Amino acid sequence: MNDAVGNPLEASSSAMVDPFGRTITYLRVSVTDRCDLRCFYCMSEDMTFLPKADLLSLDELDRLCTTFVTKGVKKLRLTGGEPLVRRNVLSLVRSLSRHLVSGALEELTLTTNGMQLAKHASELADCGVRRINVSLDTLDPKRFSTITRWGEIQKVLDGIRAARTAGLAVKINVVALKNQNEDELPSLIRWAHGQGMQLTLIEVMPMGAIDISRVDQYLPLSLVRARLAEQFSMTDTPETTGGPARYVSIAETGGKLGFITPMTHNFCESCNRVRVTCTGTLHACLGQEDAVDLRRPLRASHNDELLSAAIDRAVRLKPKGHDFIIDRRAQQASVSRHMSVTGG
Ligand code: SAM
Ligand code: SF4
Repeated sequence: MNDAVGNPLEASSSAMVDPFGRTITYLRVSVTDRCDLRCFYCMSEDMTFLPKADLLSLDELDRLCTTFVTKGVKKLRLTGGEPLVRRNVLSLVRSLSRHLVSGALEELTLTTNGMQLAKHASELADCGVRRINVSLDTLDPKRFSTITRWGEIQKVLDGIRAARTAGLAVKINVVALKNQNEDELPSLIRWAHGQGMQLTLIEVMPMGAIDISRVDQYLPLSLVRARLAEQFSMTDTPETTGGPARYVSIAETGGKLGFITPMTHNFCESCNRVRVTCTGTLHACLGQEDAVDLRRPLRASHNDELLSAAIDRAVRLKPKGHDFIIDRRAQQASVSRHMSVTGG
C-alpha cells in the first residue's frame, strides 16, 4: 500500500471545491456491498451481491482514500454493506491510520451494525479510531430479529460494550420506522443517553428496491419530534457536521439527539461530502443518480494523476441538491441503488 501522503499544506492547494463553493472535506467509502444482516428497509431478503472481482482491492481502496486525503479530505468514514465483514478490513484501517499520524487526516471512523464489533473493537482503537456509529433500531430482541431478518441483538450489545471498553465513543443510529419502533424511540433515547452515548434518528430514504412498500415504513421525523416534545425538553444546538444531521440537547437525559431528515429538510447547502462505492463509483450526492467511475483511472496507471483528474471532474458535477420522493402510486425508489451500495 502507498506509504506516503503529500504534505498537508500541499493538500490545500488542490482543495476540492464544487461549483457552489462547497469544499469537500468528508469522504464515505463503502468497502463492501455485503452484509451479515438483511434489515428490511435496506435490503431485500434475497439479495444478489456484486461479484467479488468487481470490488476494489484493499490496496486500491487505500490508494483511492489516500488520493482524497491529499486533495483535502479530513474525515474518512468506512461503511458498506457491513464494513466489518470485508475480509482483512482491519489491515486497511491500519494502513489508513498513517494519515492520522501524519496529521493529514483528522478523523478515521466507521459505521457498523455491531455484529462483529466485539472481535475488532480494541484493534480499531489501536489504529486511532476514536468514534464509531453503531446502527441499532430496537432494544427488543424479537423486534431486532424481525427488522434485521436474522440478527442476534446480544452480539450488537456485546460489540457496543467492547467498543466502549476499548475507549471508543459510540453513537447509536436509529432508523425511525412506522409501526416497528416508533413506540420505542423515547426508551432508546433514554437508554443511549443513560450510558453517555449520542443517538441519531434517521428518516427512511427511498433507496433501492426492497420487498416492502416504502410508504408502509416512512415515519416523518417532524412527527417524531413533535411526539418527543411531549415528554422531553429539547433545545436546538448550533452544532453541525456539514451533513444532514441537526442536533438538540435533552434536559431530562443530559444527552444529545440528532435528526437526519432527508425527506423533510433540505441540508444540501452545507454538504461537504462525497461517497465512493466498493466498485470505485463516486457519487457526489446521496440522492441523485450522478456517478463518476474512479476504478478505471485508478487501474489505468500506477501514479494517481488520472484518478485525481477524475475526482476533480466529479466534484465539478456535484449537484446543488436532491429531492427524495416516495412515489405512492408507483411505489418506486427515487434512487435505484440500495443504501448498502452507496454506503450510508
Ligand atoms: N451495515 C452498517 C450499518 O448498518 O450501520 C453500515 C451501512 S448501513 C447502509 C448505514 C446506515 O444506513 C445504517 O444506519 C442504516 O440503518 C441506514 N440505512 C440503510 N438503508 C436505509 C434507508 N433506506 N433509509 C435510511 N437509512 C438507511
Ligand atoms: Fe446491513 Fe447495515 Fe443494510 Fe442493515 S442497514 S442490511 S446492517 S448494510
